[in-house]
Amino acid sequence: MHIELTEMLRCPEPHGEAFLVMSTGQMLGRMVRSGILGCPICRREFPIVKGIVNFSGTGKGERGKVDDEGATIPLSPFPFPAVDPQTLQALLGLSGPGGYVVLVGAATRHAVGLAGLMGGIHFIGIDAPADVEELPVLSLLVCPGMIPLRQTVARGVVVGSDRLGPDWLAEARRVVLPGRRVVIEGEDVPVPIGLTRLAAGDGLVVGERR
Ligand SMILES: [Zn+2]
Repeated sequence: MHIELTEMLRCPEPHGEAFLVMSTGQMLGRMVRSGILGCPICRREFPIVKGIVNFSGTGKGERGKVDDEGATIPLSPFPFPAVDPQTLQALLGLSGPGGYVVLVGAATRHAVGLAGLMGGIHFIGIDAPADVEELPVLSLLVCPGMIPLRQTVARGVVVGSDRLGPDWLAEARRVVLPGRRVVIEGEDVPVPIGLTRLAAGDGLVVGERR
């Protein structure tokens, strides 16, 4: 996890937003390879292991467990991104460096393609597929059911085809900045309240936050 992401995080418990407190262990450049994040409100602690922040509460083994029980998670029909990075960049309306773009579930696979088009943006992958690895431009967070970020911190959000439930879409709306966009990798997906549907087609729905 990139060290500067710390101030964007929030505890997944349903209480007010507060900055998490970072205790770093091993660092590699600006990336935290091991450490602990603590919540000052509820006192929960979240481990960072091999660069991945785990908000799931079990502390360890979560990704391995999901892999072993893969049948319980619907597999994406597309093993690789169905949309090319140039199209995705245009749909997100991204131009210029800076800020954060959130990629949920299988959409984390877009990080490399988008980073190749645009420098200076940091990508945040939520519940990435097990074969996606952390990069200097990509931080990985594991958090079942929600995006553990403060509200309105993202320049754009892409929701993968394996995370199309209404809870995930509402989370995408919560974290995206006003006037910025959410791209949903699904057909006929109702956009959540607070997003204006801009376009739909080719397996994608684009919404803009009001
Ligand atoms: Zn908390």
